[in-house]
Amino acid sequence: MTEKWTFPELEYKRPDTEEIKNKIMKLTKRVKEAESFEELLQVYADGDSLISIYDSACTIASIRHTIDTSDKYYDEENHFIEQEYPTIMPYIMDYNDALLASSYKDKLEEKYGKQLFTAIELSKKSFCEANIHLQQREAELCDEYQKIIASAEIDFDGKKLNLYGIEKYLENEDRSVRKGAFEAYSEFFSSNEKRFEEIWNELIENRNEQGRNLGYDNFIPLGYMNQGRTDYGEKEVERFREQVVENIVPLCNDLYEAQKKRLGVDELYSYDEKMVFPDGNATPAGDDDYMMAKAQKMYHDISPETGEFVDFMMEHKLLDLKNRPKKASTGYMTILPDRLAPFVFSCFNHTISDMQVLSHELGHAFAGYEAMRNQPIFGYYMESTDIAEIHSMSMEQFAYRYADWFFGEQADKYRFQHLQEAVTFVPFGTAVDEFQHICYKNPELTPKERTMEWHKLEKKYMPWRKYDNNDFMERGGWWYHKIHIFLYPMYYINYCLTTMGAMEFKKKDAQDHSKAWSDYMKLCKVGGSMSYLETLKYANVTNPFSDGAVKNSISYAGEILEDTIRKNDK
Ligand code: ZN
Repeated sequence: MTEKWTFPELEYKRPDTEEIKNKIMKLTKRVKEAESFEELLQVYADGDSLISIYDSACTIASIRHTIDTSDKYYDEENHFIEQEYPTIMPYIMDYNDALLASSYKDKLEEKYGKQLFTAIELSKKSFCEANIHLQQREAELCDEYQKIIASAEIDFDGKKLNLYGIEKYLENEDRSVRKGAFEAYSEFFSSNEKRFEEIWNELIENRNEQGRNLGYDNFIPLGYMNQGRTDYGEKEVERFREQVVENIVPLCNDLYEAQKKRLGVDELYSYDEKMVFPDGNATPAGDDDYMMAKAQKMYHDISPETGEFVDFMMEHKLLDLKNRPKKASTGYMTILPDRLAPFVFSCFNHTISDMQVLSHELGHAFAGYEAMRNQPIFGYYMESTDIAEIHSMSMEQFAYRYADWFFGEQADKYRFQHLQEAVTFVPFGTAVDEFQHICYKNPELTPKERTMEWHKLEKKYMPWRKYDNNDFMERGGWWYHKIHIFLYPMYYINYCLTTMGAMEFKKKDAQDHSKAWSDYMKLCKVGGSMSYLETLKYANVTNPFSDGAVKNSISYAGEILEDTIRKNDK
């Protein structure tokens, strides 16, 4: 494909919702009237291309909205789409019903696999018309939270900083600067607490009502369905959390104890946690363009497939990675299905998290690139998120051997810090998951009581956490910064489950690189064409819910970290 186009030049036209509804109705009629399998297949292909064009238009608006949150035009477009999208759903449901009832259903399943109808059944189960207006309100609340976060202008170090900007100071070598930055960060959330409490309260009520409209006690089962979970539920996740407490929390305690000694401080406070080394953490060896050039070189070295992919991303300007004012403070990967193109968004801040973007988000993008080229239908281009984060987190691990290119002499520091953060993240992530379960299950809690629940979870999952007399944080204020709690309910445990997969790939890569890479390619190419457990099995990845899985997955990383600490102690 040598078509010349770039993302910034792509034309955006507001999707005509009424026209799309009409077209879907016509498709539904054609499904019902199809007189041969070939005819049905043609209707299905037409439907796929209609959805793919619509989805791409929506995605362009949404990307441009995050690139400049103050741009009124895309703010409005984004709002328009969020409001209109749910109204299309009933038409898609009718279309899906027609497919389910078609006499050629079995043939379609034979051609594309059973996941197609598993997904249709799932969307049917999670849909009800009464939820449409609730979802519209939900989107508004999420937008408001995102806007408050994006509009952060924190006066610090003589500058006006957004949240990404201030986070960088948490790695400053001067402890008083770190403390000051943490206080300023905390102050931003505490000064917005009232509105955050209201937004969260309304989101809980809203989502629980959506769950009840579908016949559940609360939102949680619907949240699981929205994550595409078809072969595990709350019980399995609970068991996973127990394994985390048992096997990962003690390791993390040891890691922070060692860090305290390394830094030579009496207490390791929250503002010291990111300061892994007394003489400073690894920093990128060059500016943003330098890092991007190295990433391009790295992907060429990893494999021919990743080389082709990274050139495609550069050629079509599908990477928006540098930090600028008014950019949404987030990082993500998405796809433009009509162009078989991934897109990656982030805000570089010249810390090791820039490398994270270049490996993690581009790992997602590579998987999307492969799935879009290997899967026959739109529905299989993206996999459920509990698989997707294995792509990204494993790519972080594959990138370790190239750390010297990005960090020069500080490469070992990078590898240690990154691995420690990957491991210590898991208890935090698991707490984020349990927090959401508590909130949706106990809607009667007052906002202050909810925040106290976060405090209790810190005691359970992060017993090392100390806030140095910061009242707001001591009573649980840390959770407010976690955008996923507001915007992407029930998502967060995915990162913890997938860390297990990534750690397994790390070990396999050390033992047999070509086997590890071929399993990884299988995982990327398969896209969303299988269920969670089927996908894991297909790519030879352990089911993280099975007994002893957490212990096994994490052991190799734990050994590396503990060995490094012992060596440095000598
Ligand atoms: Zn990710």
